[in-house]
Amino acid sequence: MSDMNLGITERLEPILDAVRTMVRDEILPLDAEFLAEVGKGDRWSYTPRQEEILEGLKKEARKRGLWNFWLTDSDRGYGLSTVEYAYLAEEMGKAQLGAEVFNCSAPDTGNMEVLERYASDVQKQQWLEPLLDGKIRSAYLMTEPDVASSDATNIAMRCVRDGESYVLNGEKWWSSGAGDPRCAIYIVMVRTGDDEAPKHQQHSMVLVPADTPGIEKIRAMEVYGHDDAPHGHLHLRFTDVRIPVDHLILGEGRGFEIAQGRLGPGRIHHCMRAIGQAEYALEMMCRRALRREAFGKPLAHLGANYDIIAECRMDIEMARLLCLKAAWMMDQGDARAAAPWISQIKVIAPQVALRVTDEAVQMHGGQGVSQDTPLARAWTGLRTLRLADGPDAVHRRQVARNELRKYTQERV
Ligand SMILES: Cc1cc2nc3c(=O)[nH]c(=O)nc-3n(C[C@H](O)[C@H](O)[C@H](O)COP(=O)(O)OP(=O)(O)OC[C@H]3O[C@@H](n4cnc5c(N)ncnc54)[C@H](O)[C@@H]3O)c2cc1C
Repeated sequence: MSDMNLGITERLEPILDAVRTMVRDEILPLDAEFLAEVGKGDRWSYTPRQEEILEGLKKEARKRGLWNFWLTDSDRGYGLSTVEYAYLAEEMGKAQLGAEVFNCSAPDTGNMEVLERYASDVQKQQWLEPLLDGKIRSAYLMTEPDVASSDATNIAMRCVRDGESYVLNGEKWWSSGAGDPRCAIYIVMVRTGDDEAPKHQQHSMVLVPADTPGIEKIRAMEVYGHDDAPHGHLHLRFTDVRIPVDHLILGEGRGFEIAQGRLGPGRIHHCMRAIGQAEYALEMMCRRALRREAFGKPLAHLGANYDIIAECRMDIEMARLLCLKAAWMMDQGDARAAAPWISQIKVIAPQVALRVTDEAVQMHGGQGVSQDTPLARAWTGLRTLRLADGPDAVHRRQVARNELRKYTQERV
């Protein structure tokens, strides 16, 4: 194994500085205004001001060459390592619009990874290119209402070949980003095999253009009462949705192979951004604790607030180091060896970020749960991150199985 260098490399330094400066000086000041525009008109489209903000920032980022950093270990773009990308993702995580401005947002990065690694040239031309350009957006449809989707072998949406087409029937929910009017393509996990096939070869991934007839947008799922418009997490029904057979990715029965490739990087990107959110929440907490007074003293000096601030700092440092180690493991090119590390950080990062954000909410009093700071919204996002891309329990299972495997020859 190579030396474990988790530091900021020389080539990363100027890029990190540029991203950090743009997030702090140009993106964060516009975040609140962007969010306040939601619902001025149709909730499920962007207002002219939102378009102006978002497209203006994207254009600026691109002009400065700050674009598609997530393309790690690739000839395109910077070809950064996952460790290097972690530092950038942390900065982007501090602002609501951060990741999208640099074309590094979920679920697109995971979907672009799938297309980059597994799609045919024609599929890449049609869908990867506009995604890389930030012209369209995408959604990843795996979870279904009627089955326990944390075990993906349960996925039931039928996909049956009929001549030169596949025909899809079933429901998906929690399809993040499917509400966005720019969302043009879905990557859909479907069941193509019969029950006789090995468990991990019964599923496939297919590309379904969002405007294909037979797709019904039933409703937007709410997260603690918020519909997250216009991005949205949609509940969709597919009735005889017909796609050409060349919309299959990689091959029939290879859905799990692709899912492994998709979910590894996607999961760790979420964790990196969560650490950025925690860092920003701690900054807000400290500023507020020094600025506001009660009982004759700044809040910082009251009760257990020193301890709270110290615990938050220590938790963040631990989570960041674990995240960097998981990123480093990914950079070693052995996905199987990296998997338990990704699972560890997938449990730890959302929990740490949630705890820190919760303390920051508390330090802000009533304002903390209101729309006046980004904290309440961040809290709900982080809470759901303990479910999305695999609930905590599923990742703990992966960590424990890996641990036990060291002591037995048998499969555990
Ligand atoms: C805001 C949000 C956005 C999402 N975005 C997407 C998206 O874009 N695309 C998509 O496909 N899905 C998405 N999801 C869905 C998410 O990935 C699933 O909710 C998750 O995988 C769990 O599946 P489930 O809801 O069917 O829960 P279930 O599978 O029913 O699991 C419920 C609970 O059972 C317990 N459990 C499960 N397995 C174990 C175990 N091995 N050991 C112990 N306990 C266990 C856990 O407590 C778990 O939380 C999103 C979810 C949310 C909330």
